[in-house]
Amino acid sequence: NVVTRFAPSPTGWLHLGSARTALFNFLYARKYGGKFFLRIEDTDSERSTPQAVQQIFDALHWLRLDWDEPVVFQSQRRQRHMEVGELLLEKGMAYWCYCTPDRLQTLRETAKLQGKIIGYDRHCRSLDLPSLPGVSALRLKSPLAGSLHLNDHLKGSLCIQAESLDDMVLLRRDASPTYMLAVVVDDHDMEITHIIRGDDHLTNAFRQANLYHALGWCVPQLVHIPLIHGMDGAKLSKRHGAVDVQYYKSQGFFPEAVESALLRLGWAHGNEEKISRENALHWFDLDGLSPSPSRFDEEKLLDLNKYYIHHYTPSHLWAILEMQGDKVRGLEVLPELQKRAKTLIDLREHLNLYVYEEIPVIPIELLGLINAQHEQYLHEFSDGVVQHSDDLELFLKNFVATRGIKLPEFAKSLRIVLLGRTASVGLYHMLNILGPSWIIQRIRKALK
Ligand code: GLU
Repeated sequence: NVVTRFAPSPTGWLHLGSARTALFNFLYARKYGGKFFLRIEDTDSERSTPQAVQQIFDALHWLRLDWDEPVVFQSQRRQRHMEVGELLLEKGMAYWCYCTPDRLQTLRETAKLQGKIIGYDRHCRSLDLPSLPGVSALRLKSPLAGSLHLNDHLKGSLCIQAESLDDMVLLRRDASPTYMLAVVVDDHDMEITHIIRGDDHLTNAFRQANLYHALGWCVPQLVHIPLIHGMDGAKLSKRHGAVDVQYYKSQGFFPEAVESALLRLGWAHGNEEKISRENALHWFDLDGLSPSPSRFDEEKLLDLNKYYIHHYTPSHLWAILEMQGDKVRGLEVLPELQKRAKTLIDLREHLNLYVYEEIPVIPIELLGLINAQHEQYLHEFSDGVVQHSDDLELFLKNFVATRGIKLPEFAKSLRIVLLGRTASVGLYHMLNILGPSWIIQRIRKALK
């Protein structure tokens, strides 16, 4: 029985890398009919915010990564974390440490001067001191000899000298549990079977393994996935542009497109680019994970998004965009717009021009392109449309022919006054969708 979890720290927008972690955990659990839990790791009260929690919920909802209830808030489990700390003490696996921050600081500095990375020197380990609230911190008695093994699905079998890890703090001087303690206790209590997460947590995993062993608990199956890089090979960060889910949502990307792109970051099924949820559930498995870092290509995501925009029916898009306005005109123009739009925002912006009688203000620099002559023609054109509404194409052709105007030039003026832009769907198509009354209205308004 598979039980996975996604354990974000609510300190900001949901990063694409975290979304990928959530997706993999979700797919793996759902594929095997198991559970997928969400655990909010909010023990760092200074950095965690309720807004960030809400943003995580929203992003996961948008990506359709529904989790099993209840959501676990790590901060609410403090009592239990403290209990386990006490348990370790009783088992003789932990001890109270009175070393002051100053002493620890000096230790670090001396080590640094000597070019060594040693942690805490285990000064209090053999002193058997009692707890003194506000003064003592609880530390784990880390093994002093032997080797520490770890089995990771992707990294294989790993081994380090046990003595290379110092005695880490479990409960701080103020009795608050450390992340290391909390994460192990929570994963154990939630009966997590598989921990799929970024390999930036790999070194933590050794420390956590020590803790599992001290408690006599089984280490879940570990799956540390390589981080996502940008196209330049550096770790994906703000430097690469937008890296949070919210951005893609607000820019009008399809969650399906984002999902397909995320799936390809560190996992693949042949060369499939567009992977439906159904196929993802069918194909996803840990064996398809890649041991090397993946590269996030925003261009590829745009292409995927274009594909989805193209692929949906006009009425589905109308619904997704929650469009108001003239639906008949909208559905008529949508197939053309779908071929061009890169994002839903793009699509909506164009669609708006065809479904509301009035368009937004025409940019002044565009209006400036219309000279007095063309202004005159536009008025004349406007005067003729009602009579010729049954065949606007023929009317326009005759209109330019009798006046000796070049069609492309007049088309440009028409687009400016009718749409406030110089590009549009096919000219005749555009005229037919707008129809005589909107054409007259828009020309009048633009030239008044
Ligand atoms: N809260 C940790 C993070 O956001 C994840 C911990 C884990 O997955 O074990 O990086």
